Amino acid sequence: MEVTLLGTGDTTGTPTPSCDCDTCERAIELGVERSRFSVHVHNERTGESLLVDASPDLRSQLLTHEVPLPDAVVITHIHFDHLDGLGNAYRLLEDVPVFAADETDPETGQSVAETIDEKYHYLDAITVEPRSPFEPFDACGFEVTLVPVEHPPLVCYGLAIEDPDTGAKLSLSGDSNYGIRDRSREVLAEPELLFADGIVPAKHARYHPRGGDHPDAEGTYRTFGTKHMTIEGARALADDLEADEYRLVHLSHYIPAEEAFEEDMAIDGERFRL
Ligand SMILES: [Zn+2]
Ligand SMILES: [Zn+2]
Ligand SMILES: [Zn+2]
Repeated sequence: MEVTLLGTGDTTGTPTPSCDCDTCERAIELGVERSRFSVHVHNERTGESLLVDASPDLRSQLLTHEVPLPDAVVITHIHFDHLDGLGNAYRLLEDVPVFAADETDPETGQSVAETIDEKYHYLDAITVEPRSPFEPFDACGFEVTLVPVEHPPLVCYGLAIEDPDTGAKLSLSGDSNYGIRDRSREVLAEPELLFADGIVPAKHARYHPRGGDHPDAEGTYRTFGTKHMTIEGARALADDLEADEYRLVHLSHYIPAEEAFEEDMAIDGERFRL
C-alpha cells in the first residue's frame, strides 16, 4: 500500500489566498502547501488506486504529485472541501465507482451517497455505490470500512483501509470532533498509519463562539467548537487508537507559524509505504 497525502489543509488551505499571516508567509518561504483534503492510496499488488475524498484542488494535486488516476473513490461527507473536486472526473476518468455511506442524514434528509448522486447525476464517468457503515467492502483490492464520526450537524465517516494480503492498515478519522464513539474507534484502532483531523491548537477555543469540548484531565480541549479536533485532541486520538505512526491533517493557517510545521503536521505530497 502506497499512501500519498494530496491535500492536508482545511477549507481555505495554507497559504490562504491574499492572507499575509505569518503561517501563510512561512508556508510560501518553505515552498510547502496544505491544499484541500484528499488522500491517494495505491495498491501495489493490483495496480489500482483508491482516492479518499475529491478535493476541489484535485487537478493540480494529480499533476503535482504524479500519482496514477483513481480507479475508485470514497467520499467521507458532503462538505465542499471533500466533495466538489468530483467534477474533475469529466473526460478524465471512466467507469469509476464512488463509494459513500447509505444512512439518511437527518440534517439533509439524504444519505451521503444520495447527495452525490443528485449533485453529479450528469457525470457518466461515475457510479455511486452506497455502502453501510461497519460493513467492510472491497475497493481496489482493499477492504474498506466506513464508520460514523462526529461532525455536526452533518453525518461524516472515518474509514479503515486494509490490505487483506499484507495486513497493512491505514485509518482516517474523517472530519470529526474528539467524541468518536467506541464502536467506530474499534474499527479504526491499531493502524500502521493514522490521519487525524486537527484544525487548531486548543488555546484557540477562546476564539470559537462554542468554545471547546472534550477536555482532558488537565482541562485541555480536545475538540475545537463542535466539528473538529484540536491539535492536542488529534494527538490524543492517535494515542488512544495505538497508531504505529500518525500525521495531523486538515490543518488551518490559524496554527501559529512557530507551531505549524512541527514534525507530526502533514504537508501535501508526503508519501508512506505500508
Ligand atoms: Zn494565513
Ligand atoms: Zn467537513
Ligand atoms: Zn473538511
